[in-house]
Amino acid sequence: MCVPGCQQVVHRALSRRGFFSGAAATGFAATAPGLAIAAPASRFTSVVDLTHTMSPDFPTFLGTPGIRMEKEFDFKKDGFNLYWWRLNEHAGTHMDAPIHFSEGGVTAERIPAQTLVVPLSVVNVTAKAARDSDYLLTREDLAEWEKRHRRLPDNCCVAMHSGWAQHVGSATKYAGKDAAGVLHFPGVSPGAADWMMKERKVVGLAVDTLSLDNGPSKDFKVHSAWLPSGRWGLENVANLDRVPAAGATLVVGLAKVKDATGGPARLLALV
Ligand SMILES: [Zn+2]
Repeated sequence: MCVPGCQQVVHRALSRRGFFSGAAATGFAATAPGLAIAAPASRFTSVVDLTHTMSPDFPTFLGTPGIRMEKEFDFKKDGFNLYWWRLNEHAGTHMDAPIHFSEGGVTAERIPAQTLVVPLSVVNVTAKAARDSDYLLTREDLAEWEKRHRRLPDNCCVAMHSGWAQHVGSATKYAGKDAAGVLHFPGVSPGAADWMMKERKVVGLAVDTLSLDNGPSKDFKVHSAWLPSGRWGLENVANLDRVPAAGATLVVGLAKVKDATGGPARLLALV
C-alpha cells in the first residue's frame, strides 16, 4: 500500500532544487540548516496508533487537568453535539514546536508538512528505566541501536521507549511526584541530544514520558538545546512496544494553529 499522495509529494520536493529556499520552509531552514526531508517507507501493512486518549484525567507535567470540555450544544436539545475545549498545548500526546523554548523559533503551523512524515527509530531502554525511574537515554544507548540497525537514518525521529506508557493510568507513577514535589520519570540526556544534532541528522525527538528532559530536571537542557535548533519534540507517546526499532514511518498529525507553541498530535506509525 502506498502512503496516499506521500510518494508524489516527496518526489516533487526532492527533485526540486533548493527546496528549502521555498517560502513555506524558510523559517524552518533558517533555524535547522542542513536538514532536508526524508523519503518515507513507500509500503506498509499496518498502522499503529502512537497516541494516548486525551481526557481531563490524563497525567500532566503541571499536575492540573490538560483539557476542559464544555458542551455548547446537545443533540437532544439542539439537534447536534458540540464542545468547547480549553486545552493546554503541552498536555496529552503532543508536539513541542521550536518556539516552545526559543524567542523567534518556528511555530506549529509553519513546520513544513514534508518534515512531519519521517523514519522512526525506537531506542528501547525499558530495562534500565525499570531499575532507575530518572533514567537518561545515553549516547551509548544510541551506539547500541546503531550496532544492530546501522546508522540512524537522516531526518528521522528518535523515540525513547522507556516503558512508561504502561503507567499512564496512574498519575502517581507516571509523573512520579515524591514527597518533596520532585517528579520522577525517564528522559533524554543532554549529551545524547547534542550528539544527535551534531553527528547525525535527527529532526525529531520523541519520549513516552511527560518531558524530553527527565523528571528531576530543573534546567531543561534538552528542551533548551533541541528546540531552538529548529527541531521538534513529541511527548507522552503511546504504544512504542508495538513498532519495530527500525523501519517504520512516523506521521505526525499536528493541529495547525497559528502561533501555537506545539499542540495535540495524532501520531501514526506506518509499519
Ligand atoms: Zn511539551
